[in-house]
Amino acid sequence: MAAAEEVRFSLKVITLKESCKVLYAQVDIDFADVLLSFLTLPLGTIVRLLIKHYGSNAPILGSLNSLYAGLQDLDSSHFWTEAGKFMLLNPRNSSGIQCSRLKLQIDDIPPIQCFECCNGTCVSMYNKVKCLCPNSTGTMIRRDLEIEPKMETGFVSAPTASFLLTDDLQILANSPTSLFRILKLNGIEHTNVLEERTLTVGLKEIMELLKGSLVSKTPLTDIILCLSTEAVTSNERKRLSASAIYETDALCRTLNGQNVRPDSKKINIKAFVQKSTNRILLAETRQDLVDFLFSFLAIPLGRVQFLLGGNTCAGSISNLYRSISNLEIGEHMKSREAIVRLLQPQLPLYCMSSYQIFSLDQESSPELYRLCNSNRVKLSVSTPIGICRKLKMIDPKGQDCFVKGPTTFMVTDDLVVSTPSSTSIISILNKIKIPLSDVEERELDIGMEEALSILKASLTSTGALTDGLKPFLTRQPKQKK
Ligand SMILES: [Zn+2]
Repeated sequence: MAAAEEVRFSLKVITLKESCKVLYAQVDIDFADVLLSFLTLPLGTIVRLLIKHYGSNAPILGSLNSLYAGLQDLDSSHFWTEAGKFMLLNPRNSSGIQCSRLKLQIDDIPPIQCFECCNGTCVSMYNKVKCLCPNSTGTMIRRDLEIEPKMETGFVSAPTASFLLTDDLQILANSPTSLFRILKLNGIEHTNVLEERTLTVGLKEIMELLKGSLVSKTPLTDIILCLSTEAVTSNERKRLSASAIYETDALCRTLNGQNVRPDSKKINIKAFVQKSTNRILLAETRQDLVDFLFSFLAIPLGRVQFLLGGNTCAGSISNLYRSISNLEIGEHMKSREAIVRLLQPQLPLYCMSSYQIFSLDQESSPELYRLCNSNRVKLSVSTPIGICRKLKMIDPKGQDCFVKGPTTFMVTDDLVVSTPSSTSIISILNKIKIPLSDVEERELDIGMEEALSILKASLTSTGALTDGLKPFLTRQPKQKK
């Protein structure tokens, strides 16, 4: 397979001659697969990949960058295992195998790695994991993995198929119906205002598209014409930002009510609120909220869309998500399973925590077998011939949650988690420069509604606690002055 830097895609792009605006691009299945694979990426992976690619110029995705940085800085002693912290910083993709043969892989984490304990009885997908054997020396040995049978890879079907991708990332079947809809919704009367160009794009533009999908309403125009979003006047953009072409509020209806985890508990926090503005300056909490917030990083982007009813307000990723439901199985999409992998991707294995509030499912554990007469491990759906034994899979986080307790933590408005110290609190108060008489302490319960609201705000706001909890600050009874 070619190195990511060498991969090229050819796009036929239709632009409006006068306004430098991309109307749509015609893309092949390889490009469509890479684009759709964005939905399988956990939020933590997206933050990590954008920082890796853009360095100090990485885009700020709401409060996710600061949540990620806070996790990096939080001492490992607050986690049950070091591997647990590592898993959150480097979440695996639960569709990693399905993405492993795409023309371009932007995620650099291998789908499954295999580390076997020195006794040859336990296996883990992460290094530095304590094995279950009583006489363990703690050394894990890396093994080559055979995957059997061949699993379905990619998401879209038929090598001859192509798709139309609108500027705001709606993916449509390449058909006269789609074309007429795009023209009509953009108010185009005569096709002589259009211009066709063929462009070659690679990793750089795909990363721009990943970034744009989360921060821009016109990512194709931004990327392909190398324009800043300001280059097209805002009026022009308003006229051109066609309303949804897909017809799907059925999707939202089916999504409603599916997100409540019946046994989920409420998490109690103490918020320090600026009375005059209702801004949350700081929250004092236990390990339960911290564990729950860190778990955002393991949730795949498509699952976040599912939780929020395909309506996140972040960039144009919701358009991509919602437009998938108009593509047909067989004609455009490989299988029902491929659609589910995009619309309801699972949490990576062992990323489920007992403090999880959302109704989520995690990928099932692969069946791994040690082969006789070789140092190889085989992943198989049925017991293969010539095996020594079935290997026991180890949960790297050690317990049913990531963060150790009981401990008191503090969380800032932009979701930076730390352990409280009087100096850090004083430095926060110095920074915000408000009189203490304007600060009051409020107790809040974080249940499903509040949690969804914080998740939504975390994608777009650098004050995720305030923006997420604002609607509930007045609803929940005031306590303690
Ligand atoms: Zn062992």
